[in-house]
Amino acid sequence: MARSVSILGSTGSIGRSTIALMEAAAPGEFRIEALVANRDVATLAAQAVRYGARQAVVADPSAYGALKAALAGQGIALGAGPDAVVEAAARPADWTMAAIVGAAGLRSTLAALSRGGTLALANKESLVCAADLVLAAAAAGGATLLPVDSEHNAVFQCLMGCAPEAVEKVILTASGGPFRDWPLERMARVTPDQALKHPVWSMGAKISIDSATMMNKGLEVIEAARLFGLPPDRIEVLVHPQSAVHGMVQYADGSLLAQMGTPDMRTPIAHALAWPARMAADIPRLDLAALARLDFLAPDPIRFPALRLAREALMAGGGAPTILNAANETAVALFLERRLGFLDIATVVEETLSALPACRPDGLDAIVALDHAARAEALRQAEARAATV
Ligand code: MG
Repeated sequence: MARSVSILGSTGSIGRSTIALMEAAAPGEFRIEALVANRDVATLAAQAVRYGARQAVVADPSAYGALKAALAGQGIALGAGPDAVVEAAARPADWTMAAIVGAAGLRSTLAALSRGGTLALANKESLVCAADLVLAAAAAGGATLLPVDSEHNAVFQCLMGCAPEAVEKVILTASGGPFRDWPLERMARVTPDQALKHPVWSMGAKISIDSATMMNKGLEVIEAARLFGLPPDRIEVLVHPQSAVHGMVQYADGSLLAQMGTPDMRTPIAHALAWPARMAADIPRLDLAALARLDFLAPDPIRFPALRLAREALMAGGGAPTILNAANETAVALFLERRLGFLDIATVVEETLSALPACRPDGLDAIVALDHAARAEALRQAEARAATV
């Protein structure tokens, strides 16, 4: 029988790769239940028709008219707006890809986990800003949570069959982004176009900027702490420009296990799609002889302060990771609009963290309220910076 699949964020980079992998699988292996996009109606409608989706939803309500026009007479249930997104996530499905970018993906991630099945998590922000709720929803729904983030998927693979108490530390690798070797004064003048050009990975805009600031790795340290139940000092980050090793686990007996592959998100997606089996995926294989060498170095804390900020937020606990994430999302959006300098992204995050009082948000409403307060404060901090230029 076909496995039913819902894709939250179907028109983005992860969503499109997921559909491509399903299409390459044996006919009848998968069928699509719900597809959710933000506002790319043309791509969403084409996907829904081609793969016979039962429901298609846009998060942006202003795109509903276009969606209705595009899918008229197709017999596909349609929806628009945040509640419709959550409703789509709650529809029964065997496997769900959570690939909506940012804290905007939190409610749908929780809805999918609450109804059980397998959830492939590409939306790291939901785990950063509301880990307790995410893990509680997974436990209550009896859901299986599989990490799709390449580093966490790598660690997950290296952990298979091993006792957690034998783990000394996990190592997340980072490419270092496009500005790995740039001096600070040059980084200060970085434009969105330069920051969007990642040297190794092909990804969406938000995560590309996060990779350039290394906030992505900071968020991933928090994500790893939550997923694998490890304290911050047992999660190490190494810059590895070749991006061939994605994650490693160091065991008590001295063994260091690594998961390797070409830097292509289709591999971790295929792993989650087929888990606990493996599926064939037509992805270029890693050519170690051609690669010839693997380099590893410690990240530079001066040029990449975001990593320190994320560790501090993780150690502070409570609402700090929620504030960190919201301030970062705001600062990245302002940078992409050319309203904030590249180095100011981390500064705005740091100032937002110190401006807001420490708190411990209790439940979804409190987390959403803190997220909104942090966005408003980050905007204020960014505007203050712009005014002094
Ligand atoms: Mg990653």
